[in-house]
Amino acid sequence: MLHTLYQRNVRANTQFFVEWMALDLIRDASGQVLGVTALEMETGEVMILQARATLFATGGAGRIFSSTTNAFINTGDGLGMAARAGIPLEDMEFWQFHPTGVAGAGVLITEGVRGEGGYLLNKNGERFMERYAPNLKDLASRDVVSRAMATEIKEGRGAGKDGDCVLLKLDHLGPEVIDKRLPGIREIAKKFANVDPIKDPIPVVPTVHYQMGGIPTNYHGEVVVPRNGDMNSVVPGFYAAGECGCASVHGANRLGTNSLTDLLVFGKSAGDSILRYLGENPGHKDLPADAADLTQSRLSRLDSQKGGESYAEVGRDMRRVMQLHCGVFRFPDLLADGVKKIREVADRATRSEIKDKSKVFNTARIEALELDNQIEVARATMVSAEARQESRGAHDRSDFPARDDVNWLKHTFWYKDGDRLEYKPVNLKPLTAESVEPKVRTY
Ligand SMILES: Cc1cc2nc3c(=O)[nH]c(=O)nc-3n(C[C@H](O)[C@H](O)[C@H](O)COP(=O)(O)OP(=O)(O)OC[C@H]3O[C@@H](n4cnc5c(N)ncnc54)[C@H](O)[C@@H]3O)c2cc1C
Repeated sequence: MLHTLYQRNVRANTQFFVEWMALDLIRDASGQVLGVTALEMETGEVMILQARATLFATGGAGRIFSSTTNAFINTGDGLGMAARAGIPLEDMEFWQFHPTGVAGAGVLITEGVRGEGGYLLNKNGERFMERYAPNLKDLASRDVVSRAMATEIKEGRGAGKDGDCVLLKLDHLGPEVIDKRLPGIREIAKKFANVDPIKDPIPVVPTVHYQMGGIPTNYHGEVVVPRNGDMNSVVPGFYAAGECGCASVHGANRLGTNSLTDLLVFGKSAGDSILRYLGENPGHKDLPADAADLTQSRLSRLDSQKGGESYAEVGRDMRRVMQLHCGVFRFPDLLADGVKKIREVADRATRSEIKDKSKVFNTARIEALELDNQIEVARATMVSAEARQESRGAHDRSDFPARDDVNWLKHTFWYKDGDRLEYKPVNLKPLTAESVEPKVRTY
């Protein structure tokens, strides 16, 4: 898929800006998006990329948690840029945990392992999924397996020297099957868990995998925000697709394999919308005089800050707070405390310092700028999760274990300014098919 998409770009003579980082969205007084500011990493130069249409495909933000399957680039830059430009983030309380991340590393062990016949054990050697999902057992959905694992660990049946993981057994499949069907998994287990799954089980924990929320869009890929009583007012010139966008096609929990379909469908749809929009808006609009001011002030603070804490330390604390206070299970006291703590972390970040002030390929500067974005996403997540007093999809509240459609069948919008929340009704009317009423999921 990646290669095909790349080849299509080559055919279209797409100009790539490799090793550039988009920093801030440029909006004019009417709210129209006119491009981004961006940093050329090689030189440290900042430029304005003026655009008649801007599409974000900047990916998810799993790196706000300590344990995640996500790549190091998944720092939620698009979400941070949108939030700073006054655009709300939608449904950020819904994060999917994948049940089988390598303990301590977070690296993904695919569901394919359980599909081939691998299964989970607690420290007593019990195949515990039989108790939680008697029919589907280890093949139950990701949130059900993740919660079962977290419960086993919480109730003292976790494996490993600290009792903080469970075991994924696959040696019974035999070396031939493992080498033929799961060679990459054997490699990962050896490299990241120091076990050979032909002989020993892999220690695994639930690990953050996918964000259901993001920059609010409609199914045309256009970014939509509440404005003057219209909950779906289009932001002219701004589009989002892929994991950073939230067309809400996955609701409160995504099914495996559906992200790639989502990004192809809504990426194409956004492309079609952009072509239409460019046809109707042939010329560039003038940039506002303050187009680069926000970016300049963020960078000059980084350059001049002295005596502040290190960004690395603040980032570590952000990830710890998110993992502990907003994990698989959500407890009211931990959430309330989490909101306080994540605001403290956000406040510390505004005074943090990078020691290396050089310009050329300064990765410390890049990481500091990424942390600004991560902190917006972390705040959005914690505040939205604390407010949602029910359990739905991937959001599981210990104090509100049931889904509450009367009060909570609605989308959350989080605004950076004052951590303000607003809600939008869920559209349950498909354009062409019959509507399927929500119902309780049972096994
Ligand atoms: C280990 C793993 C396995 C998965 N397996 C599956 C699967 O089998 N099926 C499925 O459907 N889904 C799967 N998913 C989910 C799916 O892969 C992701 O949701 C999807 O790849 C997201 O694609 P994207 O294009 O939106 O973002 P990404 O692929 O994350 O790409 C974002 C791009 O934006 C760039 N970028 C970010 N910020 C900036 C910035 N400020 N300036 C410039 N560039 C920037 C990044 O460098 C990156 O190139 C998996 C995810 C993981 C982590």
